Amino acid sequence: MARDVRALSVLQSSDHVVIVGAGFGGWRLVEALRREGYDGALTLLGEERHAPYDRPPLSKQVLSLKWDVEKATLATSERITAANVDLRLGVRAVGLDIESRTVHLEDGSSVTGTHIVIATGTRARRLPYSADESILALRNRDDEVRLRDELERIDPGSVVAIIGGGFIGAEVATQLQGRGFAPLVLEVATRPLIGVVGAKVSAWLERLAGDAGVELRSSQHIADVLRDGEGFSVVLEDGTALSAAMVILGVGAVVNVEWLEESGLVIDNGVVVDENLLATERIAAIGDVARFGWPNVMGDDLVRIEHWEVANMHAHHLAHFWTTGESAGEYLVPYFWSDQYGKKIQMLGHPQPDDDVVRVHGSPEEGKWIALFSRGGVVTGILTLAQPRALMLSKHFLDRPTTLVHALEEAPWAN
Ligand SMILES: Cc1cc2nc3c(=O)[nH]c(=O)nc-3n(C[C@H](O)[C@H](O)[C@H](O)COP(=O)(O)OP(=O)(O)OC[C@H]3O[C@@H](n4cnc5c(N)ncnc54)[C@H](O)[C@@H]3O)c2cc1C
Repeated sequence: MARDVRALSVLQSSDHVVIVGAGFGGWRLVEALRREGYDGALTLLGEERHAPYDRPPLSKQVLSLKWDVEKATLATSERITAANVDLRLGVRAVGLDIESRTVHLEDGSSVTGTHIVIATGTRARRLPYSADESILALRNRDDEVRLRDELERIDPGSVVAIIGGGFIGAEVATQLQGRGFAPLVLEVATRPLIGVVGAKVSAWLERLAGDAGVELRSSQHIADVLRDGEGFSVVLEDGTALSAAMVILGVGAVVNVEWLEESGLVIDNGVVVDENLLATERIAAIGDVARFGWPNVMGDDLVRIEHWEVANMHAHHLAHFWTTGESAGEYLVPYFWSDQYGKKIQMLGHPQPDDDVVRVHGSPEEGKWIALFSRGGVVTGILTLAQPRALMLSKHFLDRPTTLVHALEEAPWAN
């Protein structure tokens, strides 16, 4: 009986997989399906006019001018040909009929498949400031072009106000500082990333900006951003105002699920999927848009994680599941990195901000350290600053439940 169910779920040459969202996860899935041996029809639909590209370099190598933006392209014409995928760009999905597995497009046409994958990711969050249309963000290649043009317009040394001190804000500030501008990071919370990594770890990270010569102001409650001649005035709730030549917004992302509102799928801060990333039979969601659960690291929680490696793991996992019927989800561990203020931050696991934290190596003064997160005495995450080797040596603590006591005894970071 189990074999019959498995046979039903395995892709056949006569199938047609339609992936909506030609971003990182969508492209990774194309490659993974072909690598796993799927030789049926494959269609990749994307609203952007650019072939799938990698986003992390936009706020790193591309913004620092080390790379031309073309270098971030993943789906080169050779790879598109080799993957034998029908890549359709500049098409926006506006609806999904889950019974017939039909994707409706904005131009009135539609595409029907046997299997549908939702990979529509997120978009940059906007805030209702008066100067909204003149405020930049960095989510996609069009944003990158606009940012590049605007940076050419302002003088070296100009103040660039960056609203939001999270991952994108910190990375943008780092690159602008390196290019001779004067980034001013304005963070609403008492410390950047406090809502992600908790009070202790955010305190250890807080000094990174200052050490790198970047001005970071926390607890900044912004009432409005106005145009002021060629530049901007950032007005705080206490009535004071700051002048800036440019304003960049880095205040998180909004999940792209509006097009699925009528579909009947469960949408709750993302497309809710099971451990094999299925929203319903033969319809899956991967990457930033998916709300999923991996019990080995998250218990009963369903989460949405906006990180590159998670989208990568989703793509590989789904391709493997649909081509073999085998599930691998419970063995996967979320990972992210961020390059900010001259340091590499890396994290494994999925800790909560209120988990217990112990620093097991280094110190903020040394500019390198390892933090172990735990809950109920069990390790939930490892976050390192400038300690990539130690992070990898500690990965097995997340692969299966490990007590904090055991991790501290083994102490692989000491080797
Ligand atoms: C500047 C930047 C830097 C980053 N740096 C890091 C980092 O250092 N480390 C890290 O772990 N992660 C990083 N990330 C996050 C990482 O890039 C994302 O997690 C990853 O791109 C998610 O892949 P995805 O396929 O889910 O979404 P995306 O790559 O965003 O792709 C979604 C695609 O779907 C398209 N789409 C949306 N709606 C529709 C629709 N209705 N119809 C058709 N197409 C649609 C979108 O236009 C987009 O092209 C960064 C992200 C950005 C923006």
